[in-house]
Amino acid sequence: MIENILKHPNIEVKLNTEFKDIKNNDFKRIFHTGSIDEFFDYKFGMLPYRSVSFKFEEFNIPYYQENSVINYPNNYDFTRIHEYKYYLNEKTKKTIIAKEFSDHFILGTNERYYPINNDKNIELYEKYIHLAKELKNVYFLGRLGDYKYYDIDKAIERAFQCIDEVFYKLN
Ligand SMILES: Cc1cc2nc3c(=O)[nH]c(=O)nc-3n(C[C@H](O)[C@H](O)[C@H](O)COP(=O)(O)OP(=O)(O)OC[C@H]3O[C@@H](n4cnc5c(N)ncnc54)[C@H](O)[C@@H]3O)c2cc1C
Repeated sequence: MIENILKHPNIEVKLNTEFKDIKNNDFKRIFHTGSIDEFFDYKFGMLPYRSVSFKFEEFNIPYYQENSVINYPNNYDFTRIHEYKYYLNEKTKKTIIAKEFSDHFILGTNERYYPINNDKNIELYEKYIHLAKELKNVYFLGRLGDYKYYDIDKAIERAFQCIDEVFYKLN
């Protein structure tokens, strides 16, 4: 499906390219799914995120746990244990697990994963949205543009909604 989407003659993919390296080009419209605070050079400060890290461990047993993911919300410093071999039903004598740890997002060190939606951060995000509204034909969306956690179906729904508003309702 993705290959077929990218085959479209109007789509050009540039990998490993910072948006700043292309954003001054003369585009008719920009749909920005990167981080909104970064877009505005952190003018009002940085939007906080929670990140995660994984520690992999190998065991000489066929399975480590009873399911692909088990949550540990209370008693350990990790929050989940993943055992990926369940997904493809692999039959092997050994197994590899990943312990998932919660981290603060630190720019240049790890990735933005989960927005931290408290009043202070939402207020900061709204300052950026206010600034964004002054821009003509730049639209922010996605988990980083909207500063909102989306599952993949919601991210796609949001993209359809944005396109619908821009192309079908407003024109
Ligand atoms: C840890 C984790 C687990 C998840 N698990 C699930 C799950 O089990 N099921 C599910 O449905 N969803 C899951 N999700 C959510 C899913 O990943 C998101 O809904 C989806 O990726 C959001 O799509 P997006 O386009 O908004 O953002 P992204 O997929 O993050 O796309 C944003 C793109 O912008 C690019 N970008 C950012 N900054 C710049 C820049 N400065 N210059 C150029 N490009 C830039 C990034 O490289 C990225 O390709 C999970 C998310 C996380 C973080």
